[in-house]
Amino acid sequence: MSVLHNLTLSKALNLLKKGEITAVNLTEHYLIKIQNSEKLNAFCLKSSDVAISKAEYCDKIMKSEKRGKLCGIPIAIKDIFCTENQKTQAASKILQGFVPEYESTVTAKLWNENAIMLGKLNMDEFAMGSSNETSIYGPAVNPWKSKNSDDDLTPGGSSGGSAAAVAADLCIASMGTDTGGSIRQPASFNGVVGLKPTYGRCSRWGIIAFASSLDQAGPITKTVRDSAILLNIISGHDKRDSTSAKKLVPDFEAFLDDDIRGKKIGIPKEYQLNDTPEEITKLWGNGITLLKEAGAEIINISLPHTQYSLPAYYVLAPAEASSNLARYDGVRYGYRAPLESDDGINELYKMTRSEGFGDEVKRRIMIGTYVLSAGFYEAYYQKALKVRSLIEEDFNAVFSSGIDVILTPTTPTPAFPLNSKIRENPVEMYLNDIFTVPVNLAGLPAISIPTGLSKNNLPLGLQLIGPKWNEQEILNVAFRLEKEANFNYNPISWWEDK
Ligand code: GLN
Repeated sequence: MSVLHNLTLSKALNLLKKGEITAVNLTEHYLIKIQNSEKLNAFCLKSSDVAISKAEYCDKIMKSEKRGKLCGIPIAIKDIFCTENQKTQAASKILQGFVPEYESTVTAKLWNENAIMLGKLNMDEFAMGSSNETSIYGPAVNPWKSKNSDDDLTPGGSSGGSAAAVAADLCIASMGTDTGGSIRQPASFNGVVGLKPTYGRCSRWGIIAFASSLDQAGPITKTVRDSAILLNIISGHDKRDSTSAKKLVPDFEAFLDDDIRGKKIGIPKEYQLNDTPEEITKLWGNGITLLKEAGAEIINISLPHTQYSLPAYYVLAPAEASSNLARYDGVRYGYRAPLESDDGINELYKMTRSEGFGDEVKRRIMIGTYVLSAGFYEAYYQKALKVRSLIEEDFNAVFSSGIDVILTPTTPTPAFPLNSKIRENPVEMYLNDIFTVPVNLAGLPAISIPTGLSKNNLPLGLQLIGPKWNEQEILNVAFRLEKEANFNYNPISWWEDK
């Protein structure tokens, strides 16, 4: 098997540094793989020319001081990050043909360290969804197949393309965003590692906004170490985003190997649902056993307001979205509906927004507008804000009682077939995020790592949640759990046109 096959970021960095591979080799290798993997629909834009010329530059400077920390590493980016001179649509028709004149802070940080951009990745429209099915590009497809069916499966959402691309080895790592679980759920569905940093750890500048008080960017990678490396690069205060914090950024990689003996791992009883499938309960139990055997102390905890997380999220996220999405009016950028000459400005707004937004986005805008309207603001929006505080306090109480990290499943099920959740009942889709949403409401960091397979041979992830600004804690425990669980499976490449 070629040395380029299934490389992790840290391994690739080593090989590049030692001159055993070149950035051009590596980039061409991925570009061919991407070309041969159209069936996955993971990429919505390929930036081959830019990638090759950057790779040539990287090879030139590989031995010099200028090389940077990611010199020659091919990475792909969720279509929600604005990329200079590269089409960015957040998988929506309303941003048709939008080419930003600026680069998001997070992606700029990657390119400054001389990472190479392979292209933009498919996602749910405006990051609203859990299955990638709301994308204007059609769904990305999960590279994994169930043991007993040939159905195409969802890669999860909204960063479905980002997770599918890493799992199918179409890039070394990718960037996603997580508002209610959109990095962790797809990571779990695809057997890869997904990290949502503390709210405020990374700048949101240049990321198309969904719900500004919840959105965070984060890496999707093959290993926990790769996740730590990328987190270090994308973190830090940015004067263009007042919610990015002036906090010291520790060297996350340096903590990976720390001893976890004596660490206190909290197991929240509210995450044990009556209808959780047995395979998920078993996976969780195995994770507990592995950490116990590694010397951690397992402690039962309670997060009493967990059951109100989803209802609160589905008031707050749409409220913020309705306000953020008000800017798409057909005047300034993106799609403009064709009009008759005597139609007025109101007609322009109406037609542009009716034709430009998909059904799920419209649903969120309507819910959001409703809960913010004069008669209902207190009953819904303000109530949800209060619930959000209670959820945050639950976590604070647990962490201040001495718990180091919390262990839960990432998702209540493995990946499901595309088109299988009834569109008429969005709540069924929303339930996917039951274990991930509380983390966003509380602004905490969390990571999903693959630790086992379902009875149908699909990957399943466990989630580690930490206190604010303590990503090193979850990375440390995740690193150990990754080692103990030894998840060494890859999807069989049925999708490749050779
Ligand atoms: N699935 C959730 C939603 O639809 C979360 C999305 C996200 O994290 N971007 O809102």
